[in-house]
Amino acid sequence: MKFLLACLLAVALLFGAARAAAEESGAEAPVSVVDGAQDAEGTEPAAGDTAWPENMPGEDADDPGAEPAAPEDPEPDTPHEAHVFPEDGWTVRKEATCLEAGEEFCVCAVCGEEITREIPKKDHVWKVLTLQEPTCTEPGVLVRVCAECALEDRQETPALGHIFDWVEDDRGHREYQCVICGLVEDMEEAEEAPPANILYNNTITSFGPTTRELIGGTVWNRVTPLDVSEAGVYTYPLIASNRYTVGTATVVVEDGWQTVSYQLNSDRILVHSESLVFYSDLDALRAGTDGQAFDFDQPIRLTDTFGKDTRLIMGITLKADYDMDDPMIRWFSGDDEQIALMNDLLD
Ligand SMILES: [Zn+2]
Ligand SMILES: [Zn+2]
Ligand SMILES: [Zn+2]
Repeated sequence: MKFLLACLLAVALLFGAARAAAEESGAEAPVSVVDGAQDAEGTEPAAGDTAWPENMPGEDADDPGAEPAAPEDPEPDTPHEAHVFPEDGWTVRKEATCLEAGEEFCVCAVCGEEITREIPKKDHVWKVLTLQEPTCTEPGVLVRVCAECALEDRQETPALGHIFDWVEDDRGHREYQCVICGLVEDMEEAEEAPPANILYNNTITSFGPTTRELIGGTVWNRVTPLDVSEAGVYTYPLIASNRYTVGTATVVVEDGWQTVSYQLNSDRILVHSESLVFYSDLDALRAGTDGQAFDFDQPIRLTDTFGKDTRLIMGITLKADYDMDDPMIRWFSGDDEQIALMNDLLD
């Protein structure tokens, strides 16, 4: 009686263990486990008596060397959900070289199924045969050979080109010469750079109609009619001597505040003085003294000065020295359409 109880307990324990293992592996508990235990009635059930393989599928699932399960086609003699390919079980079948990939194989620890994988091609082992540095006119050449497979490889780097500068010799004679190779450029071809063409204390204004057009007289200074009520960022070219575009004036309107700033295209423009004046209308402009001066780069509230009249005339005037041959300075071409739009803002 005691023995029978022990057997029943053993069967119950085994059944419980099988169920736990089945739950762990996510599979149905096979009926054969219980059958096997019943067949073994009268003996102590041992681990080896179960129908489970040594490698539980659930245990092998995390093994990085394991191949994905192939449940559709299991080996009939040793059923297992996933092959077991130990990471240290790979054997080289063919070594990789610098010309060809190699191959290695591994067999499943459970069923002996074999898989192969590629061993990546090796890098060539380069030895430099000849190296010719590039010069002003000749490309550089690198010829190298692989110590393993004798493959030869040739690479070119482009010629550097001359770097010319004016160089003075012992007698004070100036020549246009390459500072790398010493080549002297034909003097007729290389005209010496003309001296700077400085215009002194010239007037720079923001783009718009000239005062001459607006109120008569002889002053060409441009002014910029604008409506300062609409939020936004408004930019106007800066015109020097009524001939060159030398920078940009920017008016930022935000929350009823206005900020006026300007940027010059070249840091070689030397500004001596700057002024920012707003006029309420043409009469104020005509009077000349009725403008209100403000600072650049400072938020201002023009409605505090001009009330609800937001159509104003902005006068930006800079006095500056600049080189008219400065490459950053461009010829100014008038924009009649733009000026017509601006004139519409004048009451
Ligand atoms: Zn296998
Ligand atoms: Zn090689
Ligand atoms: Zn050179």
